[in-house]
Amino acid sequence: MRIHYNKCPVCGSNDIALYTDCKDFQVSGEVFSIFRCSVCLTEFTQDAPDENEVAKYYVSETYLPHSDKAKNFIARVYYAVRQLMLRRKHRLVKRITGKRRGRILDYGCGMGHFASVMKKKGWEIAGIEINEEARNYAAKYSGIEVFTPESAGLFTKGSFDCITFWHVLEHIYRLRETLVKIKKLLSPDGIAIIALPNNMSFDSLNYRNYWAAYDVPRHLWHFNPVSFSYIAALTGFEIKGIKRLPFDVFYISVLSEKNKGSVLGFLRGMFKGTIFYLLSLFDLTRSSSLIYILKPLH
Ligand SMILES: [Zn+2]
Repeated sequence: MRIHYNKCPVCGSNDIALYTDCKDFQVSGEVFSIFRCSVCLTEFTQDAPDENEVAKYYVSETYLPHSDKAKNFIARVYYAVRQLMLRRKHRLVKRITGKRRGRILDYGCGMGHFASVMKKKGWEIAGIEINEEARNYAAKYSGIEVFTPESAGLFTKGSFDCITFWHVLEHIYRLRETLVKIKKLLSPDGIAIIALPNNMSFDSLNYRNYWAAYDVPRHLWHFNPVSFSYIAALTGFEIKGIKRLPFDVFYISVLSEKNKGSVLGFLRGMFKGTIFYLLSLFDLTRSSSLIYILKPLH
């Protein structure tokens, strides 16, 4: 089944229209439409496959344990960057929450890399993961408790100091419901940290429908600081701050060049990624990906 919206799924306005058509470059080669709401400015993937149909649009290899081994140079670089990012994420959580230790929920924890780092640093951690294979891997190798999205309702209200979504919210079907649900799980001074691609970034505006972070139909929602402020307020959050995720722009630019079929795509992507990165130093809201720091309103 496909999910067709006649109204904006965020604000309910009828004022929605086609923004652009995008190809699924990663898996199916199918074309999907991205619609934009002229009231809240949210962009969403129109006629996306529903939860029962979407599994075939995910390349399962990325979740398999063997992809976790550093086999060649690129894999080793990727692994090193990932470790660097994990350490940055830990520091970020510590700084934003003002706590050295606490209770944290990683929503969409994948194979549990971030959860594992937080656990080692003394945090009490739980994970939520929809993919069974990844869930089992995370539980087995990271020794953390991993739950299905349905069991999130079983957590005690107000029991988490921090809830993180590292490039996860854009994949989630029940968008508003999920934000409302996590608000209840946060302690009164709890913080939600949500990392998302930014559709008004320099790289997005340059690559348009070749922009790799549209990633249809896996990405259902395409936000920027303006549209994300709207849904945050609607679901009872205040945006306390916005930060950049510095490495995404290189990866996204290289992948976008590949989508365009460019000659010397890797080099062009790295070069343009560097330009976009440098430009974004003068305007955070044009960064490829952003981290939103949310505080529940009471
Ligand atoms: Zn809207």
